[in-house]
Amino acid sequence: MNHQIAVIPGDGIGPEIVREARKVLDRVGEVFGHTFEYTEVLLGGASIDVHGVPLTDEAVETAKKAECVLMGSIGGDAKTSPWYQLEPSLRPEAGLLKIRKALNLFANLRPAYLYEELKEACPLKDEIIGDGFDLVIMRELTGGLYFGERKTVEENGEKKATDTLTYSETEIRRIAIRAFDIAQKRRKKVTSVDKANVLDSSRLWRAVVEEVAKDYPGVSYEHMLVDNCAMQLVKDPAQFDVILTENMFGDILSDEASMVTGSIGMLSSASLNETKFGLYEPSHGSAPDIAGQDLANPIATILSAAMMLRYSLDLDQEADAIEEAVRQTLKDGYRTGDIYSEGTTRVGTAEMGDRIAERIRK
Ligand code: NAD
Repeated sequence: MNHQIAVIPGDGIGPEIVREARKVLDRVGEVFGHTFEYTEVLLGGASIDVHGVPLTDEAVETAKKAECVLMGSIGGDAKTSPWYQLEPSLRPEAGLLKIRKALNLFANLRPAYLYEELKEACPLKDEIIGDGFDLVIMRELTGGLYFGERKTVEENGEKKATDTLTYSETEIRRIAIRAFDIAQKRRKKVTSVDKANVLDSSRLWRAVVEEVAKDYPGVSYEHMLVDNCAMQLVKDPAQFDVILTENMFGDILSDEASMVTGSIGMLSSASLNETKFGLYEPSHGSAPDIAGQDLANPIATILSAAMMLRYSLDLDQEADAIEEAVRQTLKDGYRTGDIYSEGTTRVGTAEMGDRIAERIRK
């Protein structure tokens, strides 16, 4: 089949890692008989340099016309890059916020998967790691405390600050549906995380999740308080499949979950809306300190491309092939500098892409 993909190389290491992801996708196309057509979109510093703004309306329209978006990373060194002399609304990150809003990307999906070969990088004890873990965190991205009304007032000579945490049934329902859909493609378990013993917003969250769960009889679900979840992630991460949670809890838990996997260069992510559309990108930034030196680990971006095949294009077998090729490449001992350990073979960004691409099998 022929698929239309918008590609945002971005800044720093972005173009290098996206090049490798495209290399792997093209190989998947050859092996499985698909054609992937790419349309490049400028975002971040790359767009500022050409258009004076971090994202043009035309670029948004191009992204909307595609089936999905694959992105590298954007931004530069805030201390030295001229992009950060501009007013905040014209800086690279403003482009990212604009595209998320324009595409209505309300759900953020971040997997935490421990590769057998990278167990050494995991800070947990061997008896906790066991046979490893494989979970995803589905975080609500456009509501909650970060988007509620806020104010700071002065009363009787003392400053008082207020933030508000609001969720509507619609906001909760649409992300719960996405989480259950994703669980259906995985091990069929949802853990909905809240603070329902204290917060009204969490009690509503629980009630709506229970309603949604009725439509997914094949998926088991449980509720867990956020403080307990934070503990369980380092005590027994293998118990989780899909963790569903609101914006701030998800912000904290997803960083905790990624820490326990080890390297930042391995972590993929997706931002999704109500349709099959999604924007797929590595969890890390544009690493300006190593840009252009063939040092970046492209695996997070390559795994983001695998998620894109699975969740936006329904190409599960092809996504499995990419994940298996990554596993096999690690097993064969190839490592970029960030995951290098003695006794393994150090390779650059491009060679890592080659090694993974040549291991794609039907
Ligand atoms: P970063 O993730 O870019 O880098 C942190 C450290 O990890 C650096 O030492 C870097 O060399 C290393 N690193 C990151 N990715 C790597 C990879 N694939 N392979 C090997 N090493 C890797 O975070 P930062 O330095 O705080 O931010 C740099 C820029 O990225 C900033 O402009 C920031 O705003 C931007 N950023 C963008 C996104 C995004 O595009 N979604 C996300 C986070 C940060």
